[in-house]
Amino acid sequence: MGRSESQMDITDINTPKPKKKQRWTSLEIYLSVLVLLLTIIAVTMIALYATYDDVLQEPKSDDIEAVQKAKTLYRSCINECKCSSLYFIKSVSKYADFLIHLFSLLSKAIIDSRGGGPLLKVLPDIYEWPVATDDWEQVYAKPEDRNDPMLLYNKMKLSQVQNNFSLEINGKPFSWSNFTNEIMSTVDIKITSEEDVVVYAPEYLTKLKLILTKYSARDLQNLMSWRFIMDLVSSLSRTYKESRNAFRKALYGTTSEIAAWRRCANFVNANMDSAVGRLYVQAAFAGDSKHVVEDLITQIREVFIQTLDELTWMDAETKKRAEEKALAIKERIGYPDDILSDDNKLNKEYEEYKYKEDEYFENIMQNVKYGQHKQLKKLREKVDKDEWISGPAVVNAFYSSGRNQIVFPAGILQPPFFSAQQSKSLNYGGIGMVIGHEITHGFDDSGKVHLSFLWQRYSLRKLIKS
Ligand SMILES: [Zn+2]
Repeated sequence: MGRSESQMDITDINTPKPKKKQRWTSLEIYLSVLVLLLTIIAVTMIALYATYDDVLQEPKSDDIEAVQKAKTLYRSCINECKCSSLYFIKSVSKYADFLIHLFSLLSKAIIDSRGGGPLLKVLPDIYEWPVATDDWEQVYAKPEDRNDPMLLYNKMKLSQVQNNFSLEINGKPFSWSNFTNEIMSTVDIKITSEEDVVVYAPEYLTKLKLILTKYSARDLQNLMSWRFIMDLVSSLSRTYKESRNAFRKALYGTTSEIAAWRRCANFVNANMDSAVGRLYVQAAFAGDSKHVVEDLITQIREVFIQTLDELTWMDAETKKRAEEKALAIKERIGYPDDILSDDNKLNKEYEEYKYKEDEYFENIMQNVKYGQHKQLKKLREKVDKDEWISGPAVVNAFYSSGRNQIVFPAGILQPPFFSAQQSKSLNYGGIGMVIGHEITHGFDDSGKVHLSFLWQRYSLRKLIKS
């Protein structure tokens, strides 16, 4: 959540897309490496989760406030939400009937009577809501376009948004200004019609107009409430969760759920990554090996620059810019120092949160509320260039195109990916591969345009021909 600037990584390469048939042999090698890599990730994840469960379980007398809160949040989740159902009904009573009605409509019988077909086909029959079309990508957006920063970056004033993307609801014009101000008022920020806005999907908004005119305000409120409720049902007690089984079976082909302790550990880490990161680093990270990773990055970056010279399709000017960009990539290794050294800063990060052990659902609502506030407030805050784009307790690595930064959280800097004690060959094959992978993100289709790094036309033509 809220990490759109980052390029997630090593775990997103499980959908290889071969382009040419003659590459089958290398593809096979690639797939073998991939299987090996995924096995390594699985082993590392198990180690990470084992640490999570240990460090989140028991309160200690010397826990700082932020850490106490993380542990309370964990216990509230693992307790299977004793009191959540009541609050849920109270807070969404208007839609409770609607929810129950919808679940009964989506019961196993109706899905089976349609040959167990995808739920996507049932939904439009019920609501005629066109979001669930089979050819969404063809009709609304080409997936490759969503990866092109030049197409995504459409900067304009809010008043221009109003002119360019006028919408109508219940026959009345939709006010982008009211809408934006209503949201921003939760953090006391006023937006004028002169505010700069980046519209990521102009084509979508244009097509949305035609869709919205077909529905009443009530329909739209129902849809939004339904989406919100669907998100929250998984946070309720077993009876509520089980009401989703037919739905899940149709959607995913399975009703199995992740083990509670794993789900809860992920939940706490997603909402309090600095506090969990502190616990994780204290329990499991050999921080003194940071310089070994720094050396590896330096070496791999040098080799990357050397190989630029071997490219026959790239002209000299582009090579020079690529080298400059490679040298400018900043690295983040392990964890931000202040999560261990600055107790006050860490406590302050979570000061608004008042978790209670027996109020899991309410705790979630706090996370939703304050998590949003944190994001919205950033509009008027100076960009914190030292901010990390990932918490430490994560088995993954990242490249941020906006920051030209590569990040290797503490969670991935452990065996079998990395250890200062294991042989160099294992480190090159493990974390070395990941380092190379993240560096190349700075030069792929999403990373290529930043820092004035534009492919020269000559090179681009030659690359396409090769
Ligand atoms: Zn990647």
